[in-house]
Amino acid sequence: MPTPPPVLTGSRCGACDNVAFPPADGCQRCGQRAMSTVPLSTSGRVWGHTVQRFAPKSPPYVPPADGFVPFAVGYVELAEGVKVEAVLDCVDFDELTGAEVELVATTPVPRFATRGVGGGAR
Ligand SMILES: [Zn+2]
Repeated sequence: MPTPPPVLTGSRCGACDNVAFPPADGCQRCGQRAMSTVPLSTSGRVWGHTVQRFAPKSPPYVPPADGFVPFAVGYVELAEGVKVEAVLDCVDFDELTGAEVELVATTPVPRFATRGVGGGAR
């Protein structure tokens, strides 16, 4: 059985359609509590990012077996209008601004990659 593709789950407000990630018990826009869970788009556009050039505190950060390498983190804006904080895989950090990215993993944190970049395979 093939591994199902990764998908993030958010919540949608039944009153105003506002989508939140991570899922919320109450709507951040209108305060209603009529939230239902919804699968989110698996691709989006980089809204903003920065480059983590030193190893974060460990734990919780788990460095790769072959040592820390700088990586990009940022927000990916999905079609639902929600921005997801994620690790961003790319060939060149400069290409990330406004780039279209696809979800490649959901754990331990959401991870997106520019097209043609295999997620986490570096
Ligand atoms: Zn609402």
